[in-house]
Amino acid sequence: MNIQYSYINVILKGIEANQILERTEGRALDQWQLDLPGMLSNTGLTEGLDDNREFTDVPHRGELHVHLNGAIPAPTIREILADEAIALPTGFEFERDLLRTAPCPSLAEYLTPWQVLRLFPRKRENLDRLAFSIFAGLADNNVRFVELRSSVLYLTTLQKCSATEALERLIESTGKAAQSHGIRRGLILTVTRGDYSAVSLSTLLQAYQDLGNPKDVIGLDLAGDEEIGYPTELPRLFREAKDRFGLGMTIHAGETGRTENVWSAVELFGADRIGHGTAAGKDPKLLEMLSSNGICIEVCPISNWLTGAVPPNEAHPLQQFRQYGVPFVVCSDNPAIHQRGLADDQAAAMAEGLSIADMRQQYEIAKRYSFIEEID
Ligand SMILES: [Zn+2]
Repeated sequence: MNIQYSYINVILKGIEANQILERTEGRALDQWQLDLPGMLSNTGLTEGLDDNREFTDVPHRGELHVHLNGAIPAPTIREILADEAIALPTGFEFERDLLRTAPCPSLAEYLTPWQVLRLFPRKRENLDRLAFSIFAGLADNNVRFVELRSSVLYLTTLQKCSATEALERLIESTGKAAQSHGIRRGLILTVTRGDYSAVSLSTLLQAYQDLGNPKDVIGLDLAGDEEIGYPTELPRLFREAKDRFGLGMTIHAGETGRTENVWSAVELFGADRIGHGTAAGKDPKLLEMLSSNGICIEVCPISNWLTGAVPPNEAHPLQQFRQYGVPFVVCSDNPAIHQRGLADDQAAAMAEGLSIADMRQQYEIAKRYSFIEEID
């Protein structure tokens, strides 16, 4: 058994690695075997190349759903915590609580790492540091373009700066890191559900305008606990921002079982894409609506198993998405917290029955639904 697959198999709901292998064909398989991240060296990659460099087309990837602070590798977090002399919260154990590598009994437990992820970076230079670390991980996964999302405003408290300065710093740090790895990147501004969501959105949009509507910002996102409400005017404010600034709109919805949140994301907020949307798999009318409106689902299979959005004994609804013609793009959500990468999520999607041919289309589909313009 290939060690790379035995490793990923830990989270694949008991699916044997050789079953994954059986679902793939011929030598194209070698390419996928060779392209799992974090477990291979450059040497490992080139070992698969024959004299004609037949495997040089290791698949390019596009990432549409990844959270900035869920993509910071653990060693970088440790370095920054030490550099900024940040004490861990009471009862928080780095080894036990920072990573989520097995299904969690609750969403709250899945979110435990954020008790620490919200405590840094307090120093400007550590924003650079974590950005470079994130883009190194993306490059390892052969990601060619990424839509990186962040709630931005937590930086104002940490770095004692205005929202405008926080956004400017985020643009600078991620821009430099992306450029150094030859990756296109756009930023999505995340608003968290709750009483202050409308205020947060206004603050973020003001910062965006103060900076002259930078092209680096490509979209808006609504995230957070789906059981929590939001001010009645929030959907209108999202739609107005979309119309006025031409920003893309993605909404975390249907991750915790609520199909009505997916309906409202499209019909009230004007969502172009849905984050997760797992609940939609059981609602044919909703699937038809998503299909007829060309709403793309950001499918994050590993995250869905770890959060319990897809129970361990159930198939992932991506087969329903495919059956109903709902476009979807495989994404990684919080790869560093999962100790995985986008290549692992694509392998996990293959374990759910997607073929090499499906995977080969993923880059084009990601380009089509990306909010970043004119990707090569
Ligand atoms: Zn997410």
